[in-house]
Amino acid sequence: MKLTHEQVTLRTKHTFTIARGGSDEFRVVVVTVTDKDGATGVGEASPSRFYGEYADTVPVALAQFAPILEKADAWSLEAIEHAMHQKMRGNGAAKSAVNAALNDLMGKRLGKPLYQLWGLDPKAAPKSSFTIGMAEEAELRAKVREAKDYPILKVKLGTDRDEAVIRAIREEAPGKTLYVDANCAWTPKEALNNIEMLVGYDVEFVEQPLPPEDLEGLRFVRDRSPLPVIADESCLVASDIPRLAGVVDGINIKLAKCGGPREAIKMAAVARAHGMRVMMGCMIETSIGITTAAHVAPLLDYADLDGAALVANDPYRGASIDGGVIAIPSGPGLGVTRA
Ligand code: MG
Repeated sequence: MKLTHEQVTLRTKHTFTIARGGSDEFRVVVVTVTDKDGATGVGEASPSRFYGEYADTVPVALAQFAPILEKADAWSLEAIEHAMHQKMRGNGAAKSAVNAALNDLMGKRLGKPLYQLWGLDPKAAPKSSFTIGMAEEAELRAKVREAKDYPILKVKLGTDRDEAVIRAIREEAPGKTLYVDANCAWTPKEALNNIEMLVGYDVEFVEQPLPPEDLEGLRFVRDRSPLPVIADESCLVASDIPRLAGVVDGINIKLAKCGGPREAIKMAAVARAHGMRVMMGCMIETSIGITTAAHVAPLLDYADLDGAALVANDPYRGASIDGGVIAIPSGPGLGVTRA
């Protein structure tokens, strides 16, 4: 198999800001695997600098993986994944692009959508939330009104205006389900105070209240929290999950962290084995990345797959989240086409 790639610059409809900062331009890398007979599969790397990856490191990782794919049997997903991990640690987004492309190729050869190959019922997918990034109050209220078709909103907190933000959003969206993501911004004491406050606004759960390495702090918060606590930045791959059992209530899987849909499915199984809730999130990405995640969605309790819906220039068409409903394409493989 040959590995080729192309960089794509995505523009978001609005500047997208979280506790760590904001941007309105995101570079992703679209990867194509081509087998000897010309059959192809596509995948996407949407690198996150928080996890040490950039659009410029992805091609470097892909160059390391190319010799592995050169010799590999396209059906041997487990062996290819193992070889990529042996070659480089981390680089989850680059690995995910390769793994997604191999799954896409497999589905296309068999003429079946991935959810079917994985034995999943697309109707079992939960509704997706739509993310409201940080903004000044007037803009915040406008964003919530713009998101009127989405029944679940995920709110980014982690500033000294947290209560004003959640109050404004609750006023604009009195009947909606609200999730909160603090992106590591709070101390344990702030987290407990804020969670107490959030209960008053009927919030469903809180994602990553504390820095990723503060597991004792997370346990302290979770033991006292009236709301479920979900780990995102603290949980990258399946082997992170056992030490999070009893520390948080659930985990947030992302392809860019874990290395692809195959590992994502393993993470869901490991989390379930520990009695934990399973969420899946995303980065700002095209419909290739979002559709890859959407095929995994029937395994989830919570989905936050709005990455492509936030983008103004998505070059692809695949899974959609209109009205929050995750519609997974039924074409072979990922089922993604050019827009
Ligand atoms: Mg998060």
